[in-house]
Parts: sequence; C-alpha cells; structure tokens
Amino acid sequence: MKIICIGRNYADHAKEMKSELPSEPVFFFKPDISILRGNRFYIPEFTKEVHYEVELVVKIKKVGKYIEPQFAHKYYDEIGLGIDFTARDIQRECKAKGLPWEKAKAFENSAVLGQTFINKDELDLSNLQFSLKKNNEVVQEGNSCDMIFNIDQIIAYISKFVTLKIGDLIYTGTPSGVGPIAIGDKLTGFIDSKEMFQIEIR
Ligand code: MG
Repeated sequence: MKIICIGRNYADHAKEMKSELPSEPVFFFKPDISILRGNRFYIPEFTKEVHYEVELVVKIKKVGKYIEPQFAHKYYDEIGLGIDFTARDIQRECKAKGLPWEKAKAFENSAVLGQTFINKDELDLSNLQFSLKKNNEVVQEGNSCDMIFNIDQIIAYISKFVTLKIGDLIYTGTPSGVGPIAIGDKLTGFIDSKEMFQIEIR
C-alpha cells in the first residue's frame, strides 16, 4: 500500500504558503508506516513546529495505470478524511536548500486516517464540505469545489507515473488555515457534520 499526497491543491492554501499555483498536480509519497495507529500523536523530537493539514482521502479499489479522467471514477468508491502532518520547520529548511521533503512529510505517524469511509454515491464530490476543529474551535474549513485538480484529474495524472493498486490512499490536499499543534491539543475532523476522527496530541 502506498500513500500519495497532493500539494497545493487549494489556491487559498498555496497563497498562505506563498507558493505559486501549480499548472499540474504536485505529488509526494508517505510510507505505509506513516499511518497513525490509535488516536494519540506524539510530537517527534526532531521538530519544533508540526502543522496539521486536514485533507479528503480517496481509497483506490482497482489496479490501474494510464487511467483516463473519464474512467477514473471506476477506481474508487470510498472517501475518508485524514491529516497530512508536516514538520513545517524542516520543510522550510528543505525548500530553502532545494532538497526533497521526506523528512518533513514522510515520518512515522505523520498520516492520520479516520477509520470511517463514506461511499461516494452518498456524497456530492463536487461540493463536499470538510473541516478540522482544534480544541472545539474550527481551524480549517474546505470544500472539494475549491480543488485546483479534482479527484478524477488527480488519479489520471498520478497513474501516468505509477500504477495505482488496491488500498492505495490519495490525500488530496489541504485548504487554508494550517497551523501548529501543541501537547494537549485535541483534533477532530468532519465531513459535513459527520465526525471522521479524533486524536490527542502528546
Ligand atoms: Mg498536505
């Protein structure tokens, strides 16, 4: 199983990061051991600035390569919600030196994944609201209608480079509002009003 994450897929987030808008999807990988088990996240010792990035997650159900956008919908049914935890201080260093982002993005437990997935037939994928609360205050709100590249375009693009396999997860990018976590914080994610995960920061 692989985890593919899309960067800069919401214009307002690209703006807050002072990044240019991409002309094609930007993606990177996290390893399978980055999935957080349980509901406690321990801030790793190598960073002083972990940021949350709440993201819609697509679970691939069928093997495919060179998938055409009009057929991409056949390759997934389930939509979930997760967090792409990012060591922002390390990412800044990597960006400044022109180095890859793995240390900032692909560390152990850096991918929160709600246990619940929702069948796409129950959702309007072109208008899907999601949000993140930190300690009962809404800190991020997004809607799939604001994605620069929609799910089908993302699948078509990624599958030009790598074969997608059953169980692969695609984190589809974060809206604006990313911010730091501290020990004792509680993060709760929602698709519409449905709670998808809740984790504690230690
Ligand atoms: Mg992200």
